[in-house]
Amino acid sequence: MSGFREAVIDLAAIRSNMTHLRELVGTPHAMAVVKANAYGHGAVPVARAALAGGADWLGVADIDEALQLRDAGIDAPILAWLHDPDADFSAAIDDDVTLGLSSALQLQRAADAAKELGQSASVHLKLETGLSRNGVHESDWAEVFALAVALEQVGLLRVDGVMSHLANASAIDDQQALECFERGVAAARAAGLTPTLVHLASSEAALRLPAARFSMVRLGITLYGLSPFEDATSADLGLVPAMTLRGRVALVRRVSAGAGVSYDYLWRAPEDSTLVLVPLGYADGIPRQASGNALVQIQGTTYPLVGRVAMDQFVVNLGAGNPGVAVGDTVVLFGDPSTGAPSATDWADAAGTINYEIVTRIGHRVPRRHIHG
Ligand SMILES: *Cc1c(COP(=O)(O)O)cnc(C)c1O
Repeated sequence: MSGFREAVIDLAAIRSNMTHLRELVGTPHAMAVVKANAYGHGAVPVARAALAGGADWLGVADIDEALQLRDAGIDAPILAWLHDPDADFSAAIDDDVTLGLSSALQLQRAADAAKELGQSASVHLKLETGLSRNGVHESDWAEVFALAVALEQVGLLRVDGVMSHLANASAIDDQQALECFERGVAAARAAGLTPTLVHLASSEAALRLPAARFSMVRLGITLYGLSPFEDATSADLGLVPAMTLRGRVALVRRVSAGAGVSYDYLWRAPEDSTLVLVPLGYADGIPRQASGNALVQIQGTTYPLVGRVAMDQFVVNLGAGNPGVAVGDTVVLFGDPSTGAPSATDWADAAGTINYEIVTRIGHRVPRRHIHG
């Protein structure tokens, strides 16, 4: 490997995951969700790979994320759905970014920006269906739909889509949200809106709740080859994890039985041991909560992390002997478990969190190297 630390992103995996998911789900449209720097994988190369694999929409949270994709020359449809109260709707409309909007105030601001530009804004109305986050609440549907119709009639915007998001809490909760969403779509149509893109499902519902698929699904975690389910691995779902996180052995050290290791001496060597120093720490997104609890792979064998994860480094125990590990060898923290490496989900389990958080939090100090582009 080339770097001290690196996240290798396999763009062939992104492409094949998207192709596989599209076939599986069968909706007319599929959105690749590339918010948060594509869950840490690098937004621009991932967006291109997802489009090459069959996605026809890109989804992000913030307008700034959408504009960065446009600046890189990506001209596919992009939806942005979470806005600062002073978000620059003008820049978004001018760059042909579709706005996911959640209130009458946002609709009015989008219309004002469109008027100023002499353009028309493309809008997806987001409905609140039980997540209690953004989205128009059922009690405001009539008012907001009427305003949208009026703004359509004067040519300032078009409601091209209606969307919501599920809590994935339980089958009963999701069924209630689905029914609420169906009421909302029907009410929008009855009010005179003609959305062509109706979308509710993210990865979980896309795979396990066919009734939630409508005309488009929004695929995030599965695009990256990770499973959103506790009872199914990536391989079970036919997905390939795209990110491999690696570092190089910075030091190999022999310690005597009883030696304390890392802050707080959470671990002491039970026997004379060979330790390896790995130059990634919580500044790089390695969860401190995984201290003493995770595994890494060196030369095809897995070894346990011992002691506290520090800001820049952690320690791995090779055991009583030294199986031949040397300074400069590659340490795989996680990758595709079919190679014998731990998975991002293993790290999530070790840290008491979810795989989404493990990949998304990999820090700026870790260069992303994209392969198979
Ligand atoms: C992040 C997000 C998604 C993607 O969810 P996954 O579980 O990663 O597939 C879809 N829709 C919305 C609104 C989101 O915020």
